[in-house]
Amino acid sequence: MRKVKLVLLLLLFSQSVSFSSPFIDTTSGSENGQYTFVRQDYFGLYTDYETPFFVFKGAKPGPVMILDGGIHGDEIASYMACDSIVKYINLLSGTLIVIPRTNIQACKQNTREVNFDFNHAFPGDLKADLYEYQLAYEFMWLVDSVKPDLIINLHEARTKWSPKALTDPDKAYGQIVISCLQPFEELLVRSVDNMNKKIPVGDYQYHTHYYSVREYSSLDNFVLKFGIKSYTVESFRGFNIDDRVKLQLIAALQFMEEIGLEFSFPPGLISFQ
Ligand SMILES: [Zn+2]
Repeated sequence: MRKVKLVLLLLLFSQSVSFSSPFIDTTSGSENGQYTFVRQDYFGLYTDYETPFFVFKGAKPGPVMILDGGIHGDEIASYMACDSIVKYINLLSGTLIVIPRTNIQACKQNTREVNFDFNHAFPGDLKADLYEYQLAYEFMWLVDSVKPDLIINLHEARTKWSPKALTDPDKAYGQIVISCLQPFEELLVRSVDNMNKKIPVGDYQYHTHYYSVREYSSLDNFVLKFGIKSYTVESFRGFNIDDRVKLQLIAALQFMEEIGLEFSFPPGLISFQ
């Protein structure tokens, strides 16, 4: 049965049929013909963890990036930022895949996890009883299929950043961008520097952060199994929700820019002025 589902997913993914999505707002500043919304696909099609993802393809070729939110269902700014990108992005080049509510059951319940921490279910197992393993397997399969240049994982942290975070590889803080590799890659350092130019000086500024390797986590599997660049953005849950979403948007869009995707996005949604 699961094999059938996977084949079905594969068939869906290989379709080149375009269709309209209710998420596309044609009055929101997209100029006709400048981008193509390719399709909406699903993880867990016909299962109770079924969740959509959105594939955008610009008119010009370019890099491929995956952006995911909602790995932890109570980190709400992560999927709100993804929703905003799905609604307003005008992609001119390359490919962008957005998975707003990766763990949709946890998102619906506004809880970190349902059976156990989905972010600890990697690389996954399609035959496992718990959906978290099946979902992780499908995510890995997507990554292996499209071989993106970059995967950005959006999360939120309960602990505010302080200088002691610099020597703590076992905990997530807001505001940080996590790598499981040291020394930090130039892409990471440059991206964090440039996103901070758009963010008020002080608590909202992002810091690069080393988080020790965990064989079961999504980030480490993307990086170590596939050799794909991947970083996890953590913003602080103590800030107000509008600013949390802005901070996530600024980080996601900065990474898109740094790997060479060309796009436009309404500046008012990411402005702190
Ligand atoms: Zn998280």
